[in-house]
Amino acid sequence: MSETPLLSAVNLHKTFKVSSHNNSTGVLTALDRVSLQLFAGETLGIAGESGCGKSTLAKIMAGLLKPDGGSVLYKGKQLAQLGQNERTVFRRKTQMIFQDPFSSLNPRMRIGDSISEPLKIAGIPAPMLRKELTRIMTAVGLQSDVVDRFPDEFSGGQRQRIGIARALAASPEILIADEPVSSLDISIQAQIINIMLQMKSDFSLSMMIVSHNLLILRHICDRIIIMYLGAVVESGPASELFQHCRHPYTEALIAAIPGLHTANVSRGELLRDDLPSALSIPSGCRFHPRCRYAVDLCRHEVPKITDHGNGHSAACHLSNKLYG
Ligand code: ADP
Repeated sequence: MSETPLLSAVNLHKTFKVSSHNNSTGVLTALDRVSLQLFAGETLGIAGESGCGKSTLAKIMAGLLKPDGGSVLYKGKQLAQLGQNERTVFRRKTQMIFQDPFSSLNPRMRIGDSISEPLKIAGIPAPMLRKELTRIMTAVGLQSDVVDRFPDEFSGGQRQRIGIARALAASPEILIADEPVSSLDISIQAQIINIMLQMKSDFSLSMMIVSHNLLILRHICDRIIIMYLGAVVESGPASELFQHCRHPYTEALIAAIPGLHTANVSRGELLRDDLPSALSIPSGCRFHPRCRYAVDLCRHEVPKITDHGNGHSAACHLSNKLYG
C-alpha cells in the first residue's frame, strides 16, 4: 500500500432536512464525523443496516453529494479545492456503480453508445473506439452484437454488466459500488461479484463497496468498515473482523448471517429492537439502546474510536472487557 491514500474522508458530516407527518421540519444526521482511507489496490467494504448512511457516504466520496462538514481528499488534496482540470480528472478516475444500473442508463440510448460515451469524451478516435468498446464488453461478459439494443431489453444482471462496462470505459482508478448486487438473484450475484474481482485485477482498480451483506464483503474485501446510525463503530481487516470483532454491533451483524452459527445467542438477544431514527441519535454510545451489554457509562459518554492494532479499531467502552 502507498503512504498517501488514493481517497480519504476526514470527519464527514451530513444532515438532511426532513418534514415529519405534522409538517414540522426536523434535521436528520446521516453522517457524523466519518473518517476513512482507501489505499491504492485495496478493496474496502462499508457495511451496516439499511439507513446507517452507507449510500450517503458513497455519494460524497464520489463527489456526487457535498458534505455539510469535513472533507474528501483525492491523492491528499481536498476535493473542494481542486481546480477545474483536476476536478475533471477526479470525476473520470472515480466511477460509481449503482444498485439499479437502469437508473444510470439513458433508456433511449443504445447500450453501445452508452458504454462508449466516456471513450468519446476521452477523445478516443473513431477507428479505435469500436475496438476498445469490444474489449470492454468482452471483459464484462457481454456479446459485442448487442450494442444496438436498448437498456430495457436486458436482464438485471446484464444491466449491471453494462453499468460496470460504462464505468470501465472512463479508465477509472477507483470504483465505488453502492449495493451492486442486492437487487439481483443469488446465482447472478456471484457472477457480478466475480466480474468485479476480475476487473479489479485486470484494470488495477481500487474499490469501495457498500453492502448490507457482510458475507459478500468478507469474500471480496481487504478491509471492512462497520457503520451504525451515521458513524463508524468498527473497522479492520476483513478476516480479523469476522474472527475477532470488537464491537457488539458487529458481533450482532455476524451472528445474524444465516448458516454461520458463530453465536450461542439469537439475533433478537444480540440486536434489540429496530434501528432508531436518525432524527434523534441516542446519547452516549449511539448503539446502547440495542446493546445487550450496555452499562451506565454507555448511556452517557460517547465512546472514542480506539486502536486495537493491525489496523483494527472500534468505538466501544467495553471492547477490551468483552473481547479481550
Ligand atoms: P444506507 O445506504 O445505509 O441505507 P442512506 O445513506 O441511504 O443509508 O441514508 C442515511 C439516512 O439519511 C437515512 O435515515 C435516510 O433516510 C436519510 N437520507 C438519505 N438521503 C436523504 C435525502 N435525500 N433526504 C432526506 N433524508 C435522506
